[in-house]
Amino acid sequence: MTSSDQPHAWKIVVHGGAGILERDVIGADQEREIRAALANALEVGSDILTAGGSALDAVEAAVKKLEDNAHFNAGRGSVFTYQGTTELDAAIMEGRERRSGAVAGATATRNPVSLARAVMEKSPHVMLSGGGADQFSRDQGLEQAGPEWFSTPARRQALDDMLSNRDGWFDVDMKYGTVGAVALDTGGHVAAATSTGGITGKRWGRIGDSPIIGAGTYADDRAGAVSATGSGEYFIREAAAHEICARVRMLGQTAKAASDAVIAEVGELGGTGGFIFVSRSGEAGWSFNSAGMYRGKASADGMVVQIFGDE
Ligand code: ASP
Repeated sequence: MTSSDQPHAWKIVVHGGAGILERDVIGADQEREIRAALANALEVGSDILTAGGSALDAVEAAVKKLEDNAHFNAGRGSVFTYQGTTELDAAIMEGRERRSGAVAGATATRNPVSLARAVMEKSPHVMLSGGGADQFSRDQGLEQAGPEWFSTPARRQALDDMLSNRDGWFDVDMKYGTVGAVALDTGGHVAAATSTGGITGKRWGRIGDSPIIGAGTYADDRAGAVSATGSGEYFIREAAAHEICARVRMLGQTAKAASDAVIAEVGELGGTGGFIFVSRSGEAGWSFNSAGMYRGKASADGMVVQIFGDE
């Protein structure tokens, strides 16, 4: 009997965004660095799960790693708003009691996923926004970071490009670098976390799906855990992450079948992107309708990291 035959063999899945990710769009150096970053996030989460740690700890740790990596649109390397600032959205949820925490438009916390967890564990609320979220972060003693930490020349260029030839509301190059993680621990509990800077050039306090519980992030031990990435407005309208869990719980679909069905519905609405999922029964995987998605999964049996649609 291998370890994966046990009742609750641990699983972890991460994503680093979806979009027009093709070999000639991403250079070889960037591809190598991104694969290494996804592997590193999986390793950090795997170490926690192997030691019997919780899915909640694993997804937070994995997302923190990705937030700290400037390749992804979360924490360091987040996209700029229309005004040239950063407004960070994040959520975390655990499947046992469906406790959850989220922040929208936070501006100064180094790791927004940890702020979301503090909202879940240290406040009576589920979601805080803007200046109030920043104040709560300081009150909780979380590590603060200034604009110079979050900003990178590549994101500045993306904003400049968008402002000079804006022809749509979504990122001009259709590369969504939001990050997320879902996990199943050896106790049979699931958790999900998602973190993002949103979309380049967002304004008017726009909030996407990532911090909306049920849209971009959801976890329920009766079904599984889901984190989304893509054109957030469509994922909100679909209540996408919850929809996948509801299909598993009430229709008895596999998580893969549910995830495929829901990305198809998001596509019918006009949205692009994808999901990662784990199910209570140990399924771990993804669905996407974009050209590629930065993604990877790990279990006691090994690790897989992929980017392109043909992998
Ligand atoms: N879903 C995110 C949003 O709409 C963007 C992304 O996935 O990169 O804010």
